[in-house]
Amino acid sequence: MSAVEIICKSCGADTLLNREAVYDGFAKSGEKLICSSCGFEYASEAEVPFKSKIAAPRIFTDADRSAKVEVFDEGENKRICRYCASYTVNPFTQFCSTHKKEVQATDTCGRFEEAEDKDDASSLL
Ligand SMILES: [Zn+2]
Repeated sequence: MSAVEIICKSCGADTLLNREAVYDGFAKSGEKLICSSCGFEYASEAEVPFKSKIAAPRIFTDADRSAKVEVFDEGENKRICRYCASYTVNPFTQFCSTHKKEVQATDTCGRFEEAEDKDDASSLL
């Protein structure tokens, strides 16, 4: 696993996450998740502010906030990958399970299926 971009919640830097293997004797027992800028150690994967997770819901800047309400209002405009049942996001990629390829949250295609838990991504904010 290579370096992953994060926005550190300790120092605020747009930086990289260092993973350091932790050994229990000769067996790898886990990983330390450390900010490469300030050395802050995250307790678990879930606490790491991965840049990809943070960036996805922020498609629009503050200046575009009024536009966001219109664009994502109920209706056809919600048929983007981010709201699709086939869209999966993890710290490393956004992936379409229908087309087996990497996608962007704002991509569209002819195979859209509305996801039931489409609010998941925004709850990370
Ligand atoms: Zn930091």
